[in-house]
Amino acid sequence: MTSARRIAAGGAIATAAAAALTLAAKAGGRWAVGRTEARLCTTAQLPPYMASERARALHAELWVADLHADSLLWGRDLLQRGSHGHVDVPRLLEGNVALQVLAASTKSPRHLNLDRNDDRSDDVVLLAIALGWPPATWRRLLPRALYMASRADRFAARSDGRLRIIRTAADLAAYDADRGARPDITAGLLAIEGAHALDGDPANVDIVADAGFRMMGPAHFFDNAFAGSAHGVEKGGLTDLGREMVQRMEGRSMLVDVAHASSATVDDVVAMARRPVIASHTGLRGVVDSVRNLTDAQARAIAETGGVLGIGFWPTVCGGTGAGDIARAIAHAIRVAGIEHVALGSDFDGAVPVPFDATGLILLTDALIEAGLDDDAIQKVMGGNVHRLLAETLPPGDQTNGAISSAALAAPSVSTGR
Ligand SMILES: [Zn+2]
Repeated sequence: MTSARRIAAGGAIATAAAAALTLAAKAGGRWAVGRTEARLCTTAQLPPYMASERARALHAELWVADLHADSLLWGRDLLQRGSHGHVDVPRLLEGNVALQVLAASTKSPRHLNLDRNDDRSDDVVLLAIALGWPPATWRRLLPRALYMASRADRFAARSDGRLRIIRTAADLAAYDADRGARPDITAGLLAIEGAHALDGDPANVDIVADAGFRMMGPAHFFDNAFAGSAHGVEKGGLTDLGREMVQRMEGRSMLVDVAHASSATVDDVVAMARRPVIASHTGLRGVVDSVRNLTDAQARAIAETGGVLGIGFWPTVCGGTGAGDIARAIAHAIRVAGIEHVALGSDFDGAVPVPFDATGLILLTDALIEAGLDDDAIQKVMGGNVHRLLAETLPPGDQTNGAISSAALAAPSVSTGR
């Protein structure tokens, strides 16, 4: 072997070794992230789930929708049934879920707590690195959100039609028609948890809307340039940038989601909204009195916009650890906001303890029967209200269409000027 060839061969071996190391590091990273997910996203009662005859018959007829899950965060292949966590396509299908909102949670402070967090730390970057996400996602939040959208699109593309990402009212209508003929399909809708994902510029609403996001919360666990968080330091309302963002979101048919917003932000959003406002995963202070939850007046104000309240499945919003606790929280929300304005907001895979995974939603149908709701009310709460809201508010169709390109990920043209 000539020395040039030896060097070339050595280079090839080094490249192969580096590739193998990267793969091993990725597998190790995924394993470590999976362990973290299993530790944080717990399930009180493991499947299989037994329900009454009446619940089984009714649940099979429902169009079930859930307004919040963080399943895009943890690196699992959502086409495979997971051994931990709560949501993936096989479990959505088994649970008869017609639509799961998949949220991009782009930044999460260390030592997360309900009362007071600042924006200086970022645990999601550790996940991004451990899972081998593109380096652009390590540095900025907008590429991180876009990457999470691209993960959803790739799952849909590989799913043999079992998973669709709904972006328009036309998508929803086509999905409904197809689901009538082929029940083994389910759908996702993309959301963003916290407008810090816009990297400070309200004009980036156009970029996330183009990527297919259809809901966004002004703030997540910390105050940002747009709005105060219920868990922030100042807990202020919408800023001028925040007001501009809300206007731009409405202009792009995105729903403003006040889950996690400070009380002042909730009031500011509702006061300026011209379109329905939602609280995707929330509770009411009449059930659990916490900064995370809405007052009766706020719940009614959201209902008056035409929006819905997605009632959460974890103890600090529903007041307990069982399906019966969620049903009681839902019954209270109906009394406050009206039957047309209550929905499900599980927070599956959201680092909270929940009673069951997505295959166990039938237990909630059973608990709602037990709580005295009639079939029509159960149909509305379990997904009918969300269907109505989306049919009325999604952009009509063919306006954006689509799967984002890898060029969008690099996104050098994204403005971060403010
Ligand atoms: Zn959340």
